[in-house]
Amino acid sequence: MADSTYTIFLDPGHGGSDPGAVYNGRQEKDDTLAIALAVGKYLEEYGFPVIYSRTEDVYESPYRKAEKGNASGADIFISIHRNSSPIPNQYSGVESLVYNEWLPAGTIATNINRQLEKVGYKNLGVNPRPNLVVLRDSNAPAVLVEVGFLNNDSDNALLDSQFDATARAIADGIAGTLWSW
Ligand SMILES: [Zn+2]
Repeated sequence: MADSTYTIFLDPGHGGSDPGAVYNGRQEKDDTLAIALAVGKYLEEYGFPVIYSRTEDVYESPYRKAEKGNASGADIFISIHRNSSPIPNQYSGVESLVYNEWLPAGTIATNINRQLEKVGYKNLGVNPRPNLVVLRDSNAPAVLVEVGFLNNDSDNALLDSQFDATARAIADGIAGTLWSW
């Protein structure tokens, strides 16, 4: 049963002058925006109010993004990113980062990863990253999802061919956790 009590803040990583990872002309900031908007569409269909840090190609610092999330009063902060490895095609898979693995962020992160695993991504697990600004400065439980490696051709092929399923998996990981609260 949909419960719209929880408001979700979605942060498409990077933007504007900060492209994030770049590989063969592909820029992380474009993937994160497209994914976040698609995730938000599914969450709204499920009845959750969604607030975005950006819906266009603009730059704001991670500090500002955390501030915006806090000012929005949202209950959950989800930052969407793509991973990058020193050497192309070195690694593949999804990883979710949290301030710490305590409830509830750890549970949301675990459930997002599990849903993405069903789409076909390798599950690289949930890892604490207490120094990441958006995780550290967010008042709400925060998860940063690395949706595959931008410099891995098979991860890109999977994202492009299963784009809607990928977005839905992230939305289902979030919604499924909130519905169980
Ligand atoms: Zn990033």
